[in-house]
Amino acid sequence: MKASLIDIGGTSIKYAWGDGEKLYDFGEIPTPKQDIQALMNSLYSILDMLHTAEDKQCIGISATGLVDPQKGMVRNRTNTMPGYDNYPIRDLIAAKYGLPVCMHNDSNCAALGEAKYGAGRNLKDFICLTFGTGVGAGIFLNGDIYEGSRFFAGEVGHMVTHAGGRDCRCGNKGCYERYASVTALIDSVEDKISERLNGREIFSRLQNGDKKIYFLIDEWIDEIVIGIYTLVRIFDFRDIVLGGGIMQEQYLIDRIQDKLSYCLSSYSIVDCFKDTKVHKAQLGNKAGLYGAMAYCVFKLTHL
Ligand SMILES: [Zn+2]
Repeated sequence: MKASLIDIGGTSIKYAWGDGEKLYDFGEIPTPKQDIQALMNSLYSILDMLHTAEDKQCIGISATGLVDPQKGMVRNRTNTMPGYDNYPIRDLIAAKYGLPVCMHNDSNCAALGEAKYGAGRNLKDFICLTFGTGVGAGIFLNGDIYEGSRFFAGEVGHMVTHAGGRDCRCGNKGCYERYASVTALIDSVEDKISERLNGREIFSRLQNGDKKIYFLIDEWIDEIVIGIYTLVRIFDFRDIVLGGGIMQEQYLIDRIQDKLSYCLSSYSIVDCFKDTKVHKAQLGNKAGLYGAMAYCVFKLTHL
């Protein structure tokens, strides 16, 4: 099996080709945002390049936003990229290259990638949460991605954890990602110390013993944990995989584990959640490509 793989993100497009086991010729370019044709032209250039290297049998696309995998298009209403929503990306690519194309959202691809090639190997059930500008999730149940009745399961960033709270880009108030995303941490730090730091800078201040930062991070971890706690109570996940660049901080993984274990053992009628384990995602910024490859393997074996 050889597949060309593309991960369309809000900031960059990543690409590679895969043989079902490994990725080759990885590259990354900024996402063109002027209009949909500029984006499509970039995708065609990448695919032309990947297709000269080796014969391919499938194309796998991981895409940011709410993806309808049956229609092969993004169904957002947020208009973060002009013309991106409801554009027949998959069908145009399939027609141009004459190959089967599978297209899924980036959170599901990340979860499937971790399931087949990363932290979720050998796990039957887990949830993979990705923390960045928002919070995304892929739900892996009984050895497969749970997509939901309309393919939009896993939108945990928009579960409400603070009724009537902060305004969210979805139009609601008090959504989880307004408190638990990396952006929420950056905002709260800026609010308290009047300086806008990125995630890496915030954690370097923590290492230097900054007490204010310590407490702000701890409050942010409480927000993360309450969401995970709720998901564990609904789905009874034993394993939680945490992704996004910031989750490479071992301090964060350990602290989330401690607080989650405390909540689950303190606020539970039965003593059955104490072995809930938090794992660091293993595939980094290639998780979407690995997931797209896993979808291609599945598609080719079920044609
Ligand atoms: Zn929301």
